Amino acid sequence: MKIALVTGASRGIGRATAILLAQQGYAVGVNYLNNDIAAQSVIDEIHQAGGKAIALKADIADEAQVVAMFKQLSAELGPITALVNNAGILFQQTTIENLSAERINKVLSTNVTGYFLCCREAVKIMSHRHGGKGGAIVNVSSAAARLGAPGEYVDYAASKGAVDTLTTGLALEVAAYGIRVNCVRPGLIYTEMHASGGEPGRVDRVKANLPMQRGGQPEEVAEAISWLLSDSASYATGSFIELAGGR
Ligand code: NAD
Repeated sequence: MKIALVTGASRGIGRATAILLAQQGYAVGVNYLNNDIAAQSVIDEIHQAGGKAIALKADIADEAQVVAMFKQLSAELGPITALVNNAGILFQQTTIENLSAERINKVLSTNVTGYFLCCREAVKIMSHRHGGKGGAIVNVSSAAARLGAPGEYVDYAASKGAVDTLTTGLALEVAAYGIRVNCVRPGLIYTEMHASGGEPGRVDRVKANLPMQRGGQPEEVAEAISWLLSDSASYATGSFIELAGGR
């Protein structure tokens, strides 16, 4: 049985990924932070299509909540075989003079510590070293990890740089234990994240400068994630896929 956990799955890229994985036969843990109704709508959509999913409410930045979430997933669906570290936050664009320690810590605790905690719990279950059957992890980074997002969100970009390095290091650490760790780097994807993080007109301005002249859809990211998780990608680990319209 293929058992996946997708973090931040009540909307956006996480939602599209949870729905696609369920279509592909995974039983899916739909992690979400606080929107019960949105999470339930993902579960309902999966159930209506004949799939299997459960809602897992947890703040990925909170260690106790992450540990409890993995326990619940194991108890209700079975041992995890696929983890998608997707939940992330982005605050209003700003220059460094206005970056508070509170904001920096919040971004790092979700976008970095949260990914670490979920990787740690997944590895404990998947690793051959602990009697597990192996598995695959995909981390959702960002094109910003390499571009830096100057004058906009250097805090967010730095957090995604850490996600890239986590991917490389963990891939090497667990390769011998049956676990593959890969990463996608989306560019401009049409989700609610931009509604909260960007100045008016930013999306159109960014779009105009993209080689493909358009942003991407969450489903286009979900396809790459599902491929990296699948046996079709059995020799890929420590790999990065850019999904940024040529940026
Ligand atoms: P989104 O804001 O629509 O979704 C993010 C989800 O993560 C939300 O449902 C939110 O509630 C959840 N979340 C935030 N903090 C959480 C926490 N502490 N615990 C659990 N859940 C939490 O954004 P999205 O565009 O779908 O982003 C998904 C991922 O893709 C993020 O990691 C983001 O950084 C990355 N990304 C997005 C874009 C883009 O253009 N949309 C580009 C590059 C990377």
